[in-house]
Amino acid sequence: MAELYDVIVAGSGPGGATAAWKAAEGGLRVLLLERAPSLPRYKPCGGGIPASVTREVAGLDPGDFADLTITHLRHSWKGRDPVLAAMETADGKPAEVWMVQRPRFDLHLADRAEAAGASLVTGVKVSSVEAGADGVLVRAADGREWRARHVVGADGAKGVVGPQVGLRLSKRYGIAREVEIPFTGGADGGRWHPALEPGAAYLDYGTVPNGYAWIFPKRNCLSVGAGMLLPRKPAPDTGERLKSAIDSLLGSVGLSLPVGADAPRLWAHPIPYWTGAEPLATEDGRALLVGDAAGVVQPLFGEGIQYALRTGNLAARCLVAGEVGQYTQRARDLFAHEFDAAARVGRVFHKAPYLSYRLGVKNPAGTRLVGRLMAGETSLARVEQRIYERLRNPFGHA
Ligand SMILES: Cc1cc2nc3c(=O)[nH]c(=O)nc-3n(C[C@H](O)[C@H](O)[C@H](O)COP(=O)(O)OP(=O)(O)OC[C@H]3O[C@@H](n4cnc5c(N)ncnc54)[C@H](O)[C@@H]3O)c2cc1C
Repeated sequence: MAELYDVIVAGSGPGGATAAWKAAEGGLRVLLLERAPSLPRYKPCGGGIPASVTREVAGLDPGDFADLTITHLRHSWKGRDPVLAAMETADGKPAEVWMVQRPRFDLHLADRAEAAGASLVTGVKVSSVEAGADGVLVRAADGREWRARHVVGADGAKGVVGPQVGLRLSKRYGIAREVEIPFTGGADGGRWHPALEPGAAYLDYGTVPNGYAWIFPKRNCLSVGAGMLLPRKPAPDTGERLKSAIDSLLGSVGLSLPVGADAPRLWAHPIPYWTGAEPLATEDGRALLVGDAAGVVQPLFGEGIQYALRTGNLAARCLVAGEVGQYTQRARDLFAHEFDAAARVGRVFHKAPYLSYRLGVKNPAGTRLVGRLMAGETSLARVEQRIYERLRNPFGHA
């Protein structure tokens, strides 16, 4: 007879590890299953997280996992016409975004889950979930099985738990490519790349249709990538176009992709595209989805870490309180309005990207607004309203 847990969490990324951590902290018996053979494991990601997430998820200390904190964005159009602007809170203070390396960040969260009492088993590829009146039976590809009252699907963009329990059946995806380029030397004890502005993340528009390219600084390495976020069917040459966007951004700042046998891997990874509110838990409350498995990625920036943390936290709170029936609605209240607005803003931006760049992005007021967004002080609905105001009055003052 398989052991009975209160909750089995499939996937130990930010969503799953947070769900396991908070559920265990709430006194539940938790089993956290991870496909990777061991932790830490790599996840292709820019690793940018707004510091304001600490207001939503208690107990996160950036000193434990963040490499650097950025407060500025350096925007460019096809590598040219750059502008460096500060992200600011409403009272003019720097709005902070942490730069994390995912192996370290995700391991920290899994450690927190274990410290709170969750059992972690790596090397388990969950392959089937059966939900019934008595609970759930979770099977691994190698035949091992476990029972629990509930299962949390935190198994990422291509997760299997959702489809197994009849959730997230018609997913849509964007796609991103990313590489981590190591460096030595640099400003402030080697923390900032010598060729780049300290304290800034680089964003480049115009080379990727419906997306952007980025350089996110980390301690001793750069995360460089490009992603296409709108739900267009990717053309056969999408991978190459994303790579050439990366080449072009790097070239514009005097850098290039390393080549040769030791060259770092250029990853490709799907990003769930938000298609509107849908159920995130089964009607019987046996299965819940969080993070990418639930499709909660903000469709303008492709930002998913904070939403994985927040849905993981929310799912755990609902499980601990015996209120799983309210999970979908509470998640909707948190994200649906914001994500709908982000999708509309994305459509406007990508319809006229150069105009949007000149009038919105290049205007320092635009980056200040992003700062307030990152600080959790404004909403994307407000940003959307602001864009329409600018389109109506393009030469007016901010
Ligand atoms: C290139 C790229 C750049 C990005 N940059 C940013 C960024 O800068 N900021 C940001 O906020 N978001 C970013 N995102 C999005 C962000 O990476 C995701 O939203 C985030 O990782 C979601 O966390 P998660 O825990 O839901 O899923 P994941 O991080 O994908 O974790 C899922 C876990 O489940 C495990 N797993 C999968 N299948 C199974 C299975 N069958 N059984 C057991 N375990 C399984 C995986 O091994 C993994 O550990 C980026 C995405 C991409 C692709």
